[in-house]
Amino acid sequence: MTDAAPGKVYLVGSGPGDPDLLTVKAKRLLEEADVVLHDKLPGPEIIGMIPEEKREDVGKRAGGEWTPQEYTNARLVELAEEGNTVVRLKGGDSMVFGRGGEELAHLAENGIPVEIVPGITSAIAGPEAAGIPVTHRDYTSSVSFVTGHEDPTKDESAVDWDALAATGGTLVVLMGVGKLPQYTDALRDAGMDPDTPVALVERATWPDQQVATGTLDTIVSVRDEAGIEPPAITVIGEVAGERERVLEFLEGY
Ligand code: SAH
Repeated sequence: MTDAAPGKVYLVGSGPGDPDLLTVKAKRLLEEADVVLHDKLPGPEIIGMIPEEKREDVGKRAGGEWTPQEYTNARLVELAEEGNTVVRLKGGDSMVFGRGGEELAHLAENGIPVEIVPGITSAIAGPEAAGIPVTHRDYTSSVSFVTGHEDPTKDESAVDWDALAATGGTLVVLMGVGKLPQYTDALRDAGMDPDTPVALVERATWPDQQVATGTLDTIVSVRDEAGIEPPAITVIGEVAGERERVLEFLEGY
């Protein structure tokens, strides 16, 4: 810790979990930081690279409750005001469903110097780790990144599944394991072909990555049989079928 100099906060994306997919900058900052605030999503290998005395876990607490966002915001400001170089490490890219935008705004409001360090988002790397390109010239010219966390049966759901089905493009759903039955129903109701390929990629690029594939009709039972749990990415669209075509030659994960 330096005494008088003002500190700085780096909002750093860790990538999906394989330490080799950290950016060079993220790796350097993890080494240089005085303190690293993280949750569990960067994965055990990357978290294990950070010396224990520098780590602060602001993810799920022992009782299963999330650390309140207000606490994390306040802690970032406090540490920076003490003169620390702080890394706020988040899974994937911190600005993709990562509440990085809220932390950025809070730091700016409090006059704290802040820098965004992009990471490889699981929304793209997750499918890739299973041999699935999110776009493909032959099948799809658009891709949508969607939260599966909202209940599609609720009237006030912010996600318009009808409109998403109508794009005809790839849908990549994050936080979408629990509500898989609801949004696959919503997509079928919206007219999407029940035979559309769907893939689930759990803990993409972690040593225990798991992939399960099916169709819009079968994926819920596939999920249950394979025991897929969060964190996982759901890929819906013709591109999900690519996995079968390349599997024999697929190396890396
Ligand atoms: N900022 C993150 C996303 C945070 S939201 C990013 O850019 O990747 C949390 C969701 O991310 C999880 O529910 C899951 O859907 C997805 N996710 C993150 N890391 C993952 C991984 N290694 N494998 C599969 N899904 C992952």
